[in-house]
Amino acid sequence: MHKSGFVNILGKPNAGKSTLMNALLGEKMVIVSPKPQTTRHRILGILNSDEYQIVFSDTPGVIDKPSYKMHEAMSSFIHQTFEDADVFIYLVTPEEKPDDHKETLAKIADVHAPKFLVLNKSDLIDQAAITLRLDAYRQTNIFQKYLAISAKEQTGIDELMTAIKEALPEGPEYFPKDQMTDRPERFFVTEIIREKILEQYHQEVPYSCEVGIDEYKEGEGRDRDVTTIRATIYVNRKTQKPILIGRQGVSIKQLGIAARQSIEKFIGTRVHLELFVKIRENWRDDERALKEFGYRNY
Ligand code: GDP
Ligand code: MG
Repeated sequence: MHKSGFVNILGKPNAGKSTLMNALLGEKMVIVSPKPQTTRHRILGILNSDEYQIVFSDTPGVIDKPSYKMHEAMSSFIHQTFEDADVFIYLVTPEEKPDDHKETLAKIADVHAPKFLVLNKSDLIDQAAITLRLDAYRQTNIFQKYLAISAKEQTGIDELMTAIKEALPEGPEYFPKDQMTDRPERFFVTEIIREKILEQYHQEVPYSCEVGIDEYKEGEGRDRDVTTIRATIYVNRKTQKPILIGRQGVSIKQLGIAARQSIEKFIGTRVHLELFVKIRENWRDDERALKEFGYRNY
């Protein structure tokens, strides 16, 4: 018997969804940051074996008040995850209470798939507090399982994985068995550059940036160990361009080095990376820009 299906991970911004997805996949695929709203797209990560194919989906966090058209697009990615789940994981953290999730819990109650309530960051509290929290969620009567994990410390992941495999329906393979994601390599390159922007710049700056690939060329012949990548960072406002570039280009240079090292690790060749900065005013509210940047896939 072959089992397969979509395992959708949902939760508030910063709950640790991307960290959990990486832990379940056994390698770092999606970007993680202490800053909220890091993940902007729905990204599939596929785990394959002879007996099963599990398609995990990482999503943006549930945003209470969308402020841009970009947020509306992000919310629509979330909506899909209610509909196509074969197993549904709702991720919460110790500082949140069931009451903080009222609206989302009401929606989850209507999801037909098996549903797990997973308390993440349990490394931050003691066993008594964990039990108390899980009991509070048990009162909702919505979920089939109530589990505590630490995605970061990788505790409880095996138990969660076992529960997922049990709940997974019988089904065919949806993707070729050697495929690990629905996204091309160059998408992850833009994500890595965004991750480095999140690490290096502060306040509003990372949120106003989007990254596009202008050229992605794998080396040939003697240069086959070098990939050439030219990417543009689009900023929302004129004033942000000099911030990104920095005095005498110091900041953009530092960003380029950090991004290049990470990209090299990810794609496994040396990388020649060139970064450009352009202004694209108010792209987060610009339908055409959103389409170009892949926020409208319908
Ligand atoms: P997302 O917004 O839900 O995708 O959250 P991320 O996966 O980007 O993680 C947000 C922050 O929480 C990052 O700084 C992570 O390192 C941290 N984090 C994730 N899981 C855990 C955990 O189990 N324990 C602790 N202490 N921190 C965690
Ligand atoms: Mg995330």
